[in-house]
Amino acid sequence: MNRGEIEKLDENIYFVPGENGGRFPACHGFLLDGGETVLIDSGVGEERIKAIDSEKRIDILIITHSHPDHIRCWNFLHDRVVMVPQETPDVVTDLDLLGERFTGSPEDGRKWAKYVGGFGVQPLRAPDERFSDGELLQLGGCHLEAIHTPGHLKDHYCFFERKSGTLITTDIDFTSFGPWYGNPESDIEVFRKDVTRVMALPYKRVCSSHKTPIEGDATEQFEGFLRSFERQRQAVLELCEKRMTLDSIIAASPFYRNSFPNKELQRVFETNLVRKNLEQLQRDGWVMESNGRYLRTGS
Ligand SMILES: [Zn+2]
Repeated sequence: MNRGEIEKLDENIYFVPGENGGRFPACHGFLLDGGETVLIDSGVGEERIKAIDSEKRIDILIITHSHPDHIRCWNFLHDRVVMVPQETPDVVTDLDLLGERFTGSPEDGRKWAKYVGGFGVQPLRAPDERFSDGELLQLGGCHLEAIHTPGHLKDHYCFFERKSGTLITTDIDFTSFGPWYGNPESDIEVFRKDVTRVMALPYKRVCSSHKTPIEGDATEQFEGFLRSFERQRQAVLELCEKRMTLDSIIAASPFYRNSFPNKELQRVFETNLVRKNLEQLQRDGWVMESNGRYLRTGS
């Protein structure tokens, strides 16, 4: 990768396209370059990190949250300053325990660790520094406001670079999948509020971790992302019209459409995605459960 593939967004701030088009298990990154050099998220890929680092030594690595596609390749910067969210738990230093956090059981956690180990994810080390909600990080010639957005994951952060008006929305990512809340700790309602809160900021451009940057108004993309919550909920509701059991809803795979490469982990994440919607649908009076079957009651 040469410098030309890195896109200058504004003074001191650059978009670093992730390998694989920024799709999982990669993500896009951001480079702050003024005074010190800062990389936000290392999931861009080994080759790209090494190319940037050989040209302009990276001083600081900021991790937006502890998902594998965002921490992957951090080990190539292990001897630099590593900054993680205040909320990131210590289990991030052990892949089996991180897997348990993300799947809900030690057994599935070990399967997760094996799966992400297969594409090179290493456990993080204890960080050098932590940042918290509302903190202004004056680094790399930028004024980076940390915004805690815990709906996707409890330690998930967005950043607002105030000088350039660049809003980094991380995994509020505008992908066709829609919002992802497949871990036990993820929360649909909190996620929705996170989106509403960040889209109200006075940004000039919006950059997510898995799509290319959007210059100017991104209301359409934010509203589309919010509508995806509803589309996901409708997909679960439609399956309840067939009086299905939880197992049969999960087997129907309304989220992944059976396309996740690891079937055991697909089942774990699909279960969380479905369950969280069923809980909402029951709470809102659209669905009831009877003898292990979910029935649509509202209309
Ligand atoms: Zn994530």
